[in-house]
Amino acid sequence: MMHHSLTIDQDVCWGCTHCMKQCPTQAIRIHDGHAHVLSGLCINCGQCLHACPHGAIRIEQTPFGEVTRYARRVAIVPAIFFAQFPDTYTIPHICQAIRQLGFTDLYLAESGVDVLNQLSPRIIPKTGLTISNYCPAVMKLIQMRYPLLLEDLTLRRPPSQIMAMFARAEILAEGVDAQTIGVFYFTPCAAKIAQIKTTGSDESRLFQGAINMDTAYNKVREYLSSHKTPDPSLPDGFTFPGCTASALLWSTVKGECIGVTERAMAVDEMHNVIDFLEQLEEDENTNLNFLELDACAEGCAGGVLTVRNRFLANERLRHWAQSLPSELDDALQERIDQYQDIIRNDMEMERPIPSEALVWDTDTSKAIHKMENSRMIANALPGIDCGLCGAPTCRTLAEDIARSEASIRQCVVLKLKDPKLMNQLSKIWGDRSLGKGLYNGSDVS
Ligand code: SF4
Ligand code: SF4
Repeated sequence: MMHHSLTIDQDVCWGCTHCMKQCPTQAIRIHDGHAHVLSGLCINCGQCLHACPHGAIRIEQTPFGEVTRYARRVAIVPAIFFAQFPDTYTIPHICQAIRQLGFTDLYLAESGVDVLNQLSPRIIPKTGLTISNYCPAVMKLIQMRYPLLLEDLTLRRPPSQIMAMFARAEILAEGVDAQTIGVFYFTPCAAKIAQIKTTGSDESRLFQGAINMDTAYNKVREYLSSHKTPDPSLPDGFTFPGCTASALLWSTVKGECIGVTERAMAVDEMHNVIDFLEQLEEDENTNLNFLELDACAEGCAGGVLTVRNRFLANERLRHWAQSLPSELDDALQERIDQYQDIIRNDMEMERPIPSEALVWDTDTSKAIHKMENSRMIANALPGIDCGLCGAPTCRTLAEDIARSEASIRQCVVLKLKDPKLMNQLSKIWGDRSLGKGLYNGSDVS
């Protein structure tokens, strides 16, 4: 069962419905003046966190103190973390700060792109479409809503997983006890935290914890503000020697399309992704060979745990990329060669299976009956999706009613008896919505 990384602080939540309106999978309901998440529908995209004006939504993380439980403390840091900082702080200076937080080994997540490209050059079929599996929020969405597209997913492990494997292999080769190695991922992404905290997942096997990027940023920034220049006596730089220019841009929009010579396209932002997947499901013939989908605007630079303006962050990445080589350097190549067998044996993920969003009933005939009921109830509701009932749309209220999770009494419009109020509402929504279905002026409570 997928872990959920978001929680709503009921003491802070006002039930204002901002989150409910933004949720792309209609996973939020308002009850008793507070928002609640239907965990089966949530894909951990974090859009609700962005939408909440009261700061009531929190993203879980591994307590920072967990890091000190391990003798070898490995940070897998994506390039976008370094891009959170203004140019006044150099990459080595930031690396030094991360080490001063207690990490003994530092790997750039994007080095994993070079490892992947080296060990398994991407083969895009000449016909048919391959969809990137990189963004975990999109992958969960496909599992839930577009299961027919699961066949088209690429199964290569994401670069962060590859580097977690690489780091462990290098440190084990030093003769270190496996139990004393802790690998932590600095993440901009609520969906990644959910993966890492899901028992039995690949991520929970490869990472001992996730550090939220905003937390790590604040800690590093605090160190940097009291250590204005790098200390030459302290180690800086990555344990693993960097990456190529194209690898560095992997998490930006079109980053994965770089190097795909066939027809490739990128779509970012969840509502665009959903629009496009709807079209694909309707058998739109795109002639595309590769499709990159990012839940966040501007890719991971727009991740919910980032702190900097996403355009500035991506600009910093592009600037950094200009100073990097276009080909693997010898140091990188040598280390890849050394551990290639270990990585090669575990480079592919299992194909994800469909996950049911709404459980109507464990009994199939009852489930079909409830689905039919929900369609009838939806026809009876006004269809104006006002949200006053605490569900995002009339259709979701109808589904909740059919599953005995809500009552038709929650529909405020159906309960209106005052002709003056009805007249006012019909000026806004028209007579058709208000006169449709059950409403006939009689008491429906
Ligand atoms: S994380 Fe995304 S899917 Fe889950 S409740 Fe928030 S907006 Fe909805
Ligand atoms: S675009 Fe990046 S940060 Fe956003 S959900 Fe996907 S992987 Fe996470």
